[in-house]
Amino acid sequence: MGKKIDCSKVNPASGCGHVVRGKDVEEVLKKAAAHAEDHGMKPTQELLDKVKSFIENE
Ligand SMILES: [Zn+2]
Repeated sequence: MGKKIDCSKVNPASGCGHVVRGKDVEEVLKKAAAHAEDHGMKPTQELLDKVKSFIENE
């Protein structure tokens, strides 16, 4: 089973509809960190912890 995270759940203010998908938590976190940089955000530990809390199975 894969994992996913909706950008809009982590950062509702962004209005971003991007969904990050990966085969496991590690891959989703890595891609989410890269996506955060697309938003000009630093993928800090705090941000990644927040991302982690919104990861869903799919
Ligand atoms: Zn986004």
